[in-house]
Parts: sequence; structure tokens; C-alpha cells
Amino acid sequence: MTTVLPSWLDVGEWPSRSSATGDAATLSAIGSESVGIREFASLISPHADRFLENMAQRAMAMTRRHFGRTISLYVPLYLSNHCQGGCAYCGFASDRSIPRHKLDRAVLLSELKELKGMGFENLLLLTGERTEESGFDYLLECVSLASRHFHNVTVESFAMTAAEYARLVKAGCTGITLYQETYDPTAYSVFHRWGPKREFLFRLEAPERALAAGMRTVGLGVLFGLADPILDCLRLYRHIHHLRKKFWQAGVLVSFPRIRTQQGGFQAPCPVNDTALARLIFAFRLALPETPLVLSTRESPAFRDGIAGIGITRMSVASRTTVGGYSAPPPGDTGQFDVNDQRDVTTFCQALRAKGLEPVFKNWDSVFQPSSDLVPADAG
Ligand code: SF4
Repeated sequence: MTTVLPSWLDVGEWPSRSSATGDAATLSAIGSESVGIREFASLISPHADRFLENMAQRAMAMTRRHFGRTISLYVPLYLSNHCQGGCAYCGFASDRSIPRHKLDRAVLLSELKELKGMGFENLLLLTGERTEESGFDYLLECVSLASRHFHNVTVESFAMTAAEYARLVKAGCTGITLYQETYDPTAYSVFHRWGPKREFLFRLEAPERALAAGMRTVGLGVLFGLADPILDCLRLYRHIHHLRKKFWQAGVLVSFPRIRTQQGGFQAPCPVNDTALARLIFAFRLALPETPLVLSTRESPAFRDGIAGIGITRMSVASRTTVGGYSAPPPGDTGQFDVNDQRDVTTFCQALRAKGLEPVFKNWDSVFQPSSDLVPADAG
């Protein structure tokens, strides 16, 4: 069945317009105080690579203006690797022969304690598509427990109904991360081989349902490598504007994940190299000056250090993509994907400070929360 895209995702002819790819158009877009779709199309075009330095300078200036020199840190916590999904690029897809686990309450508490001891306050809980072992009720229970100990708990999980999102909000969840992976319905149906995630429109509309249900933030993104990054970025840009228009008070974040090696050996059909990824990040910074832009440990230390503060304002650190990976890593387990930047918190923070950037673990108002029984008296 053909998926009909909603009109708010329409990008017209921008991907192929020659007026978006000349030197004059690119320079004008870099200097623009108000980047619309015309300017954005110029900035994401490969033609803009010849002006990458100019883009970087402008992106850094805008980042400093709106975020100062701070980099907000978060950590992912995998609750379960059970999944009924068949995403071709994922190490947890149901056809992978891997040991399956989920965290029980005791191990979850150990994981939370470990992460709290490392200083984190921004926690991202992850699961695969719902299964009997690890469904909505399990996630709800984990959110409820984690939100008693962490200032900011968000989830990256399956697309849900509005009623389910409302229950997560009530349990203390402040936001969701839900990448569309690709906004190209044909590519989407090829790489999402089976499972509920095949429902393109149900996923596309999930961030709206989450915000309507009271979530404060939604994290959007495409998985670079799956399809044409230019078309995907234009539609992502449209998606962000659609949400902003409808939920002006909501926080939208944008992430820039690239496909990493994983169990299954999937190779990216449309690889995005470092230069192209940098260009796309700078373009989003110029177009969305106040939007947090996120980069995970999928990227190398060199790339992360280079781009921190030049567009990127939020980063994960010390990530484990295995279930129980912080306090009790199961021997021989493989994660959802291979982590590229394996530095610990101290080493990464030193690298940020060496660049004049300040790592931030929590928001100031967290000091008004009652003290947690997980936190050692001297922990930050
Ligand atoms: S990406 Fe998510 S839904 Fe898809 S196979 Fe992996 S864990 Fe399952």
C-alpha cells in the first residue's frame, strides 16, 4: 500500500532547485538572520561544502549566543533488548541470535545508582518494540522508578497512543525521543521488515500525540545512511516547523545518528561522511538557532570534540548499549550497535573543558527535589 505523506511534509522541488545551489545563494543563506526552506536547502546542499568554514564560524557564533559555552550531558539506559521488530540496521532485531534480557527491579536500581554516582541527571530509557516480556506496563514501572531519582527522565521506545503517553507523563516522564529513521516511505518499508514499526504514519504522528499528552520535549531525527540525506533533512525541517506551529511551547531537539556496525552486518546504502554530517549539523544550527542539537557516542572522539559547541549542544557520554551494561554487563553480550566514543565521563569532560566548554549534568532546579536514597551524600 502506498503511504500518502501529509501536506505539512511537502518540500516541493527544493531538493533539485538550481537556485538553491549557487555560491550566491549559499553565502546569502549563511548570512541570513531568518533561514527559511529556500536558505535551508542551500545550506544542506553538497555545494555548500566549499563554504564549510564560513558555516562553522556562523554556527559557533549562534550557538554561543543562545547556549553560551555549555554542553548538556545525558546518558542512555537500555532496559530491555527484547523486540518484535525487524529493523534491518539494528542489533536487537528479532532475527538476531543474541541473548535477550530485561532489567529486573534490583538490577535497574543498581544501574540507576551507578549512573547517579557518575553525576548524571538527564536519563534516557530505551526499549525495543513492545513484547510480552517488555511492554508498556514494564516501561511505565521503570519510568516511575527512575523519575524518583533523576531530574529528567525521557524515553526512546515504541510509538504509543496518546493515552499511553499521558500515563508516562503522570509517572514522571518529561519527553520522548522518536526518530522517523527516514521520511522516505519507500525506503522506510524496505528497512523496517516486520513489526509495528512498519506503520510509517503511526510513527510520524507519535511526537504530536506525545506533546498533546503533556510531554515537554520531543527528540526527532533521521538515521543517516538509510536514504537520501537531503530529502530526509528537508522533511525533518518541515516536521519540526509543523510541531512548533502546533505546540509553540514545546521543546524540540534534533539528533544526528549515523548507522554504526551492529549484529547483522547491515551496510548503509547512502553513507554520510564526516564532512556531510558537519554540513548538515551547521545547517540545522543556522536554521534553528535556539534548538538543542544532539550528538551521541555513535561518533568518534575526534568528530565529537571537533563539533562540540559548533552547533551541537547536547551529548551522551560513557554510553553502554547493552542491557545492564553499567553495573552488571552480561558476559559476551552485544549491544544495539557499537559505541564509537568509549571515553569515560572524566576524560570526556576534560576534553570539553580543554576547548573552553562547560559540561552540564543537571538543571539548577533539581536542587529543590527531595534527596534521593540512591545518592551517596557526597555525589554531585
Ligand atoms: S530499532 Fe528498535 S524496533 Fe527496530 S529492531 Fe531495533 S530495538 Fe527493535
